[in-house]
Amino acid sequence: MIKVKDKSACCGCAACVQICPKQCISLDEDKEGFLYPTVNRNLCIECGKCEAVCIELHSFEVREPLKVFAAQHFDESVRAASSSGGIFTLLAEAVINDGGVVFGARFDSDWSVVHDFTETHEGLQAFRGSKYLQSRIGNTYRQAEKFLKAGRKVLFSGTPCQIAGLKRYLHKDYENLLTVDFVCHGVPSPLVWKKYLEETIARQCEKNTVLLHSNPLISERGSMAGIRKRKIDAISFRNKNLGWKKYSFALTLSEVTTDGEKNTVLLSTIFPENEYMQAFLADFSLRPSCYACPAKGGKSGSDLTIGDFWGIEKIAPEIDDDKGCSLVIVHTDKKVNRLSNNSILSEISLRQDPFKGNPSYYISPYQPVNRAFFFSQFGKNGFCKAWKKTMSTKLQDRILRKIYQLL
Ligand SMILES: Cc1cc2nc3c(=O)[nH]c(=O)nc-3n(C[C@H](O)[C@H](O)[C@H](O)COP(=O)(O)OP(=O)(O)OC[C@H]3O[C@@H](n4cnc5c(N)ncnc54)[C@H](O)[C@@H]3O)c2cc1C
Repeated sequence: MIKVKDKSACCGCAACVQICPKQCISLDEDKEGFLYPTVNRNLCIECGKCEAVCIELHSFEVREPLKVFAAQHFDESVRAASSSGGIFTLLAEAVINDGGVVFGARFDSDWSVVHDFTETHEGLQAFRGSKYLQSRIGNTYRQAEKFLKAGRKVLFSGTPCQIAGLKRYLHKDYENLLTVDFVCHGVPSPLVWKKYLEETIARQCEKNTVLLHSNPLISERGSMAGIRKRKIDAISFRNKNLGWKKYSFALTLSEVTTDGEKNTVLLSTIFPENEYMQAFLADFSLRPSCYACPAKGGKSGSDLTIGDFWGIEKIAPEIDDDKGCSLVIVHTDKKVNRLSNNSILSEISLRQDPFKGNPSYYISPYQPVNRAFFFSQFGKNGFCKAWKKTMSTKLQDRILRKIYQLL
């Protein structure tokens, strides 16, 4: 029976929840906002399946990549909406064209992030773009298994730990399955995201404003006199208006005025100035298991690992137009053909050190000494105050981080 004694030894992939034949494992949110499994002992039959699928209880081999590519989607509008070069969409479109199913992460109606599947090109839109928080995987492993057994092609995309969880859940190789993970910096807390969003909206809007989620603005208008209603229209963690390398966090709000006009407001900050991105990139808001990730460096068992090709301007400057370039790491033989048939790919030799700009491929993030301080402040005062207080203690962390990186 699975028992999480040490939170750093559970990545929250929920393979245990999905494999349980008695469905007696539930996921509960802790104070930091991460989900952990709890077994209902009264229903558990001690079959051991949950332990058999747990990626933290098994070790995986680091794999040397077979090939590395730099890639860009040929459609400029797709590339603009994607975080890097749009390689995810390219792979997903090929699977949809073959009558297949694509699994990925999308925003839910309350702007939390969930895993889901689509069978259409239009459905891919919601998966495009990185959402920098841990997605709820739900029962997507089970859904994917059903499609695979029915002979459908399946592309399953996710974090390295989500892919490792899927592979252990399935327990066998499927020829019709393509697994795609990404170079992963780590996953921030969904609760930190929720609070950040609430506080940002509250800061930007007047006191008499309520935030609507997915409900239509116009039908709501006038139901509460004197109250202004705003709705989030779009969120991008990787807005490329200022370029791929200088990306921004962008939030689009809309409001219906008393005369029925729709006003749209764009809040946008470049990533080094955005507090949420600062806490993410300085490693404070990540899941405890991310600091010793069991699935990096190809250990997840994925067919492909994708990411931003940071440093492409030095390796292949002719490709770099600052509109986004994907790094594609090929781990398995069977999928190479699909990629090499495509003309927009340039193969990069391993001798050119394609991972130099992206150490997150191999290395887990450094756990800041003040992480616990940040989360204790977060519990008391919410995100923005907690982050301000933590920032004032960051010098010590910077020095320790430098030592960690040197080591
Ligand atoms: C939490 C997180 C950390 C990352 N860290 C790095 C990093 O350190 N270095 C790096 O090079 N790249 C990192 N990436 C990946 C990078 O941001 C791009 O997603 C990747 O380069 C693919 O870009 P694309 O242009 O091909 O497609 P895009 O359209 O941008 O990619 C979308 C893909 O990402 C998946 N996705 C989006 N959000 C999530 C989520 N929350 N959980 C699971 N899957 C999700 C979608 O399902 C889809 O498969 C990270 C992504 C996430 C979500």
